[in-house]
This record gives sequence, structure tokens and C-alpha cells, in this order.
Amino acid sequence: MVKRALLSVSDKTGIVDFARGLKQLDIEIISTGGTARMLRDAGIETIDVSEITGFPEMMGGRVKTLHPKIHGGLLCLRENPEHVSDAEDLSIELIDMVAVNLYPFEITISRKGVNLEEAIENIDIGGPSMLRSAAKNYKSVTVLSDPQDYGHILKELRSSGVVSQESRERMAVKAFRHTANYDSTIDTYLSRTLLGEDTLRLNFTGGRELRYGENWHQEALFFSQPEIEGPALANCRQLHGKELSYNNYVDGDNALQTVKELGHEKPAVCIVKHNNPCGLATGNTLLQALQAAWDGDPISAFGSIICTNVAMDLESAKFLKGKFVEIIIAPEFKHDALDFLKSKSKNLRLLELPSFNESFDAEFTYKYITGGMLKQSRNIGLYEKWECVTETEYPEEKRGLSEFCIAACKCTKSNAVNLSWEYEDGCYMMLAMGAGQPNRVDSIRKLCATKARENLKEIYDREQPEMDFEEYCNNILSECVLASDAFFPFDDSIIHAAENNIKYIVSPGGSIRDNEVIDTANRLGVSLVFTGMRHFLH
Ligand code: 5GP
Repeated sequence: MVKRALLSVSDKTGIVDFARGLKQLDIEIISTGGTARMLRDAGIETIDVSEITGFPEMMGGRVKTLHPKIHGGLLCLRENPEHVSDAEDLSIELIDMVAVNLYPFEITISRKGVNLEEAIENIDIGGPSMLRSAAKNYKSVTVLSDPQDYGHILKELRSSGVVSQESRERMAVKAFRHTANYDSTIDTYLSRTLLGEDTLRLNFTGGRELRYGENWHQEALFFSQPEIEGPALANCRQLHGKELSYNNYVDGDNALQTVKELGHEKPAVCIVKHNNPCGLATGNTLLQALQAAWDGDPISAFGSIICTNVAMDLESAKFLKGKFVEIIIAPEFKHDALDFLKSKSKNLRLLELPSFNESFDAEFTYKYITGGMLKQSRNIGLYEKWECVTETEYPEEKRGLSEFCIAACKCTKSNAVNLSWEYEDGCYMMLAMGAGQPNRVDSIRKLCATKARENLKEIYDREQPEMDFEEYCNNILSECVLASDAFFPFDDSIIHAAENNIKYIVSPGGSIRDNEVIDTANRLGVSLVFTGMRHFLH
């Protein structure tokens, strides 16, 4: 039974309606200065906290509710006779519900030019104490720390006259999480301001057990970051298939990030294996992009994760018939495509992400190393400058394709190189890539050159153009762009690219041997652009 509620809120959203709802249920309301004023203005009767405590709110509001008459009323265990007799002896009336939200410390410190005194005044002391007292005593007390919960708590009270145990438990955990985050924000701010130190506490919740980790003998959990909204893998709705595995999360994230790097002007498809894009393409239709991405490495695509920025349609779903794929991620699945894919395999995981094409505003990325955590700002952007450094000009028409290659490099483990082709006007496909090689030259000489020819052979056999295969390859390679995620330390990569008839290369530049690299490019008729932006991914 809820007989008395204490309302003391900084964010007054919804408080009048909530209080009115409580009154209609004959619940007595106690409130602090500003909250009481607002309720009275709305014609809602309330008792001042000072009337209960016998003390005025003092010291500019620093002490309002910090009193045994309040905390005794919240902490008293109803089923403990000693508690109850203490309350009776000391004329402490029980409080069954608390709605509190805290001084806006985070907003205050994020304001430009805020000083330490202002920040400190915005550290709420009485509010967290009430939240914690009420949350500790959740068996008898309901604690609301978020205006979003007013509606359903009122609904429960109206329909059953009580707040269910399940709701009280959930609200208590929420309140403790809220005060923990609040204190953590204060710790971060004061550590920086008073001690000159940075601290890191990440708020991950809802740890969900996974069947196993990276390997079968490893245990694993997935935690999500509740404040991260928008196009994140954790926000996908799973429409079908087995639960995601540890590796699925890792690879799915890579697929999603890679497609997002390509924007949403055209349908784009990324195929990921082992945390690297092995197929990547844009097209005029999803089917076209999917076919081109698949052609980028049909062997590796086996058991892959596929991600696209447009709705999955039936014809594209049919393209995947007979092909083993682990996951498909898309902003939407058309009904017929969904039915088709569901019937294809009971295990195929289908992940829908309606916010796919919205911007993603998480500022940082983190990486755990033994005994430590690395934090860095996200790698945003493709290049800082666009400077052709060779005598042979770098045609402007190659800009779009070059950007596609850089985007692919950004999401590929270093050392990364990417070789891509504009296979139709404005539509790009990856022909080959070198990922995770400890040297760049092997990525070009041993991986890109061989792989591009292998992939082109399949396309050649399918399309049967009227020329011999070597000529076909040379024609296509002469139109391709090769991007490198970091500078070329020697000119050998340029030599191997030229040997393979590759004529357009983008690199961040910045090596002490840049001049040698440029001289060799000039000698071999290769055009080279320096972008000034490295994209290592480790
Ligand atoms: P009001 O606007 O009602 O005057 O104040 C509401 C705010 O006061 C809430 O954010 C609540 O957490 C906070 N509060 C309640 N009791 C105390 C207290 O004893 N000391 C401090 N510093 N803040 C309190």
C-alpha cells in the first residue's frame, strides 16, 4: 500500500501529472521547496518537508531532506517490530514512495566556462541519499529516479492498488545505477579538476551469457551501453536465427561500420570474415551491389556476415540461395524476403536496424589490454588533403572510387591495402585486399595481384568478353585504384603495383622516403595522391 510519497525533483518533467495521479489515489504528498511551489501552483495539495523535519530548508538548499524523520520513514523495515516501534516512539511517519531526480551535475559541468564552485553546488547530496534509502528498502518502498517511469507506476497503482514487487526491484536497481553513474561523473570531474587525473568508468549493463567466447573453451558475456542510441549492432532487432556468438558480434560490428563508411547515397554491401571486409561494393540496386561484393571474394564469402544499408528484398535474398551465410544485417527486411530467408535456414541470423542510416555519435572507442584500457576518439573522416604528388595527374573522376578504397582500408586490419574497380558508372567493387600483413609490399605483390586476377577470372568466364584474359585483366587493373592505410616506407610497393598495370594509388604519405616513392611513381607513369590521414586499425 502506498500512503505517502515524497517528491523532490530538479527535472520537473511530468511531476504535476504524476502528483495529480497520486492524489486521486488518496496518496499524501510531501515535497521540497521548488517542487512544492510547482505543485501548489497547479492546485495540488502538498506537505512541506520542513513541516515534517521541524527544520527549515537551510544553507541555500544544501540541507533539506537529510533528517531522521525522512530517512527513518524510508528505511524502516515494515516487517521488523523493532523498526516499527522505533518509528512509533520517535513519531516517524513511514514514506512508501520517492520520486527524486538529481541536481543536473553533468549538464552544469558541460557548460562552457563553468567554475569549480558552481560545479560543487550542483553536487546533490540529499537526493542520492533518498534514492539509496528507498532503493535499499525496495521491499516496502518504490523509488522513481526517472520521469519516464511515472506513467507505468501510476497505471499499476490504479489497476491493483499496489506497486508490484517486480517493479519495485527494477526501480531499485535503476536508482542504484543512477546514483553510481552520478557519483562516477563527479569522480571524473573532480579527479580532473582537483588532481589533474583522468578516470574511466564505463557503464555497461545487462550482461548476457553467450554460448562461448572466441573459442569453444572460453566463457563470454555481452554487455550493452544503454546510453548509446542509433545505428549500433547492440541496437539491432533479431528477427530470426540462433543467438549471436562472440565472433558474430565482432564481425557484425565491422560489417556495420564498413557499410556506414560508404554513406547511403547508393545501395552498399559489405561481406565480412574474421573482422575484415572481404567483399565490398556499391550498386544501382541491392542485387547488383550484392553480386559485386560477392565477386570480390567468393571463396571467403562462405560463412560470412553480410550487411547492407538498404531494405533486403526478395531478389537479393534469392541470390543467397545455396550460399552459406551466418548473418544478414539490414535497415529492413521486406516481408517476402524475410519469409524466403527464414525458410532458407533456421540458424541464419537476421538483424534489423531501422536507425541504420542515422548518424552515430559515440565519441570514443576502447580496447582492453592486459591490466589496462586504451581510449581514443573515433576515427572520423577519410582524408585531410587531396594532393597529387606526381607529374602524371590524378584524374578527378577517380575521386569517388578512391574514397571507396580508403573507406575499405579504414575497416581492414593493418597493414591494409585495397584494390577496387568502378565496374559500372558510379558503382564500385573491391577486387582484392591485403589485410593484417606485417608488411605492406606482400599485401600488394602476393595478395592483391593474385587475388584480383582470380576474381576477374570468374567474372571473365561468366561474361565472356571478346579479348584474351590477360588483356582483360590489364585493361581493368589500369582503371583500378589502390589505396594504402599508411605511407609506403619504400618504393617497392609502387614497383609491384606498376608491374600489375595499376596506375592510380592513394596513400597518406609522410614517409622519410616519400621522395623516392614519388620519383619511382613518376618513372613508372603512376599517379599518386597523398591524403595526410593514416588509417591504422589494429
Ligand atoms: P526543489 O526544486 O524541490 O527545491 O529541489 C529538488 C532537488 O533537491 C532534487 O534534485 C533533490 O535531489 C534535491 N534535494 C532534496 N533534498 C536535498 C538535500 O537535503 N540536500 C541537497 N543538496 N539536495 C536535496
